[in-house]
Amino acid sequence: MKAVGIQQRYKHTRDEVIRQCQQIGRDPSHVQLIAVSKTVGVEGVREAFNAGAQDFGENRPDQIIEKFSALPQVRWHFIGNIQSRRISDIVSASTLIHSLFKYDHVGKINSAAAALQKVQDVLIEVNVSGETSKGGLKVDEVRDFVMSCAEFDHVRLRGLMTMAPQGDPVRAKEVFTDLAALKDDLCAVLDADRARYFDGLSMGMSEDWREAVCAGATMVRIGRAIFSDGFE
Ligand SMILES: *Cc1c(COP(=O)(O)O)cnc(C)c1O
Repeated sequence: MKAVGIQQRYKHTRDEVIRQCQQIGRDPSHVQLIAVSKTVGVEGVREAFNAGAQDFGENRPDQIIEKFSALPQVRWHFIGNIQSRRISDIVSASTLIHSLFKYDHVGKINSAAAALQKVQDVLIEVNVSGETSKGGLKVDEVRDFVMSCAEFDHVRLRGLMTMAPQGDPVRAKEVFTDLAALKDDLCAVLDADRARYFDGLSMGMSEDWREAVCAGATMVRIGRAIFSDGFE
């Protein structure tokens, strides 16, 4: 993988996201491009950083810790499976955790964040498509989960995250549209203070980010299109 390739692909992807926003009349500053750097090392991260990337996604605690230490000046997003015993590591490195869906983890994130004197921003992962291979709450479980998080002062709910089934853009668009509708429903039942922060929709990856942006994504998580040589 050539370093110059990453810089070019990052800039190209960023320009494509901006163009897509303009085409559909959305403000490009409302869609954050998260460069999912899980397949590359610190060098690859630096290349994307040199091309202007400010947000990076990782799905492994060890990787987010290592890369956060190397580049603490950017925002690190944890997008992977949360394991209880790694929560303090994840919290120490993450600006935003995208993949919360177990009630057990909320209290642990709260304690870890309190110890670091921070408020941890989190998204709730929702399994909209119902595929058994995917993590996340079922759509009809999310409301109770949101309500039960209210007691934790060091955890701030910032919205929802999902992954669409692969290889079917029409279905992906439906999944993203459903997630956006769910976010609006939840905002309507939250008190004004919490609703104001509940503004994030993390959805869309290399193959389906256009559908996600059309459906209202505020964050797209793009890996291969930036970091893989062969992705078209
Ligand atoms: C790997 C990963 C991505 C990026 O996927 P690409 O298809 O490489 O763009 C996005 N979100 C999550 C949760 C991932 O694990």
